Amino acid sequence: MKFLVIGGAGYIGSHFIYEAIEQGYQCIALDNLSEGHRQALHPDCDFVEGDLLDLQLLKKVIVDVNPDAVFHFAAYALVGESVSDPSKYYRNNVEGVRTLLEAMREQCPQTPLVFSSTCAVFGVPESLPMKENDPKKPISPYGRSKLMAEYLIEDYANAYGIKGMALRYFNACGAHESARIGEAHRCETHLIPNVIKSTLGGKPLVIFGDVFDTPDGTCVRDYIHVKDLAIAHIKAAEILIKKPKGFYDVYQLGTGQGYSNLEIVKTIEKVVGRPVEFSYGDPRPGDPPALYTAVEKAREGLGFEAQYSSLDYIIRTAIAWHEAHPDGF
Ligand code: UDP
Repeated sequence: MKFLVIGGAGYIGSHFIYEAIEQGYQCIALDNLSEGHRQALHPDCDFVEGDLLDLQLLKKVIVDVNPDAVFHFAAYALVGESVSDPSKYYRNNVEGVRTLLEAMREQCPQTPLVFSSTCAVFGVPESLPMKENDPKKPISPYGRSKLMAEYLIEDYANAYGIKGMALRYFNACGAHESARIGEAHRCETHLIPNVIKSTLGGKPLVIFGDVFDTPDGTCVRDYIHVKDLAIAHIKAAEILIKKPKGFYDVYQLGTGQGYSNLEIVKTIEKVVGRPVEFSYGDPRPGDPPALYTAVEKAREGLGFEAQYSSLDYIIRTAIAWHEAHPDGF
């Protein structure tokens, strides 16, 4: 089976491709390399450098590849940047998805689309754990752009028979067991890489806020290893392939277990075997106190349960990657 992976050179896309190739699938990545890295591509993955907004290119690639499933990982994902430059986010994350849907509608209307979404579609949740159908009130252009893209896929499924699934991730983290690929963002804003980098001589760590309404006052998040995300995508595609045209559904991917920022720092201290220096700063605008998902729907509908998302495995694989690649790719 052949997978067309849009955004395949990015953090989650590249881990998906490693997993898919290890499971025997053939992969073709399309990426504009604005955030992704050519070095992140598996050596057996074919690569087309190009942009999601290029309808003619997408149509040509779909005809050439004739994929069994299409995966979309090609979104911009920095909340702060989405506030200062919403145009960039709506163009790529919404218009890009619409362009992809147009190309698929014309060239491969029966081929499933598995879409990366996010728990940021909820904004500040009204209740925990968060369920797929809970009310959605995104508080950033990033979260809104992802919710709009979910609606686009659902509407194209209803009207034109596209088959789609949106997978809403909680906090993606960790690295490939081999340490050949890992988290390498142009601008690193995430907690785990920032803690690890601070222990390797990088910027001193600041924990954003210690007076949240949580057990230790720091924010609580649901961390899921990128290998688990990759496995869930493959399951999603296999299920979608068998569904009738027009099928659409949404699943959330996390462990259901929340860890506080302080617990993350303490666990990293334990693994590296020395204290992590940090200070408390102001809360980051738009950070909800706690986010963790209900896992029942993904368990029942996808047969998915996180297997590689113990904090220990997440942190060990992330440390191995950062130690092997202190400056990224
Ligand atoms: N965070 C922090 N210091 C950092 C980076 C992140 O205290 O250098 C906090 C952030 O405010 C949030 C949690 O860590 O409470 C997880 O943030 P991250 O950016 O990793 O993921 P998010 O939940 O925002 O998607």
